[in-house]
Amino acid sequence: MPADTTPAEPVVRTTALCKDYDTGAGHHPVLKGIDMTVMQGEFVALMGPSGSGKSTLMNILGCLDGATSGRYWLTGHDTATMNSDRLARLRNHYIGFVFQGFNLLARVSLVDNVALPLLYAGVPRVERRQRAAALLERVGLARYGEYLPNQISGGQQQRVAIARALANQPRLLLADEPTGNLDTQTSEEIMRVFDELNSHSGLTVILVTHELDIARHARRLVNMIDGRIAFDGTPEEFGRRSVSQAI
Ligand code: ADP
Ligand code: MG
Repeated sequence: MPADTTPAEPVVRTTALCKDYDTGAGHHPVLKGIDMTVMQGEFVALMGPSGSGKSTLMNILGCLDGATSGRYWLTGHDTATMNSDRLARLRNHYIGFVFQGFNLLARVSLVDNVALPLLYAGVPRVERRQRAAALLERVGLARYGEYLPNQISGGQQQRVAIARALANQPRLLLADEPTGNLDTQTSEEIMRVFDELNSHSGLTVILVTHELDIARHARRLVNMIDGRIAFDGTPEEFGRRSVSQAI
């Protein structure tokens, strides 16, 4: 955990966040007023039906996209006041991303995939490779540094993607359906990596999933329906509610 933060600092705070898409078919509201605060060290599962706006929200939280209206503070920085250069710097400094499809460079060794964000950050080559090797070790792939992505399993590729997301020592890890392409057992193994990063390193995690069993790894579950937060509580409460509504 970086020394310049107190445990009670919000990493994410949004108020009345809205996002509209203008398509040929007209004006399409996707986020309809999201008020959400995530404190440092939290592990939040974001659930909701397909099309409810989860990825749209994750992209705004990750500074990959801007809101149409409303406010978003990332670690206290008001993103509304920033131009795209400053947003990119904020993103590189504070955020690590993990995606469903791993998104590794196919022709590049695992160690160089992990080192890529460090290249962009201007870290010298030797240090880059040392740090990338340490990150691979952290996700249990110390021996695989010189392999190519297609020489390892999907679960291993997702571990590499997690190591890459950690390269710039982010404050916030955003994972959009990271287990969506993996079988149940491999998903559990990947979730244990997130558990470890959250509980031992104090990393703040927001993770999108369709599955309650995956969401149970988080201590907080936010359920979105049609662009709004419909539930915000523990996975256990959510599970009980879902069961009672199904009866
Ligand atoms: P989820 O991740 O919950 O499945 P998304 O955030 O991807 O939902 O999408 C929410 C809605 O926004 C969907 O109706 C989708 O079609 C629409 N949408 C997403 N991205 C765009 C875009 N770039 N342009 C237009 N509509 C979009
Ligand atoms: Mg999505």
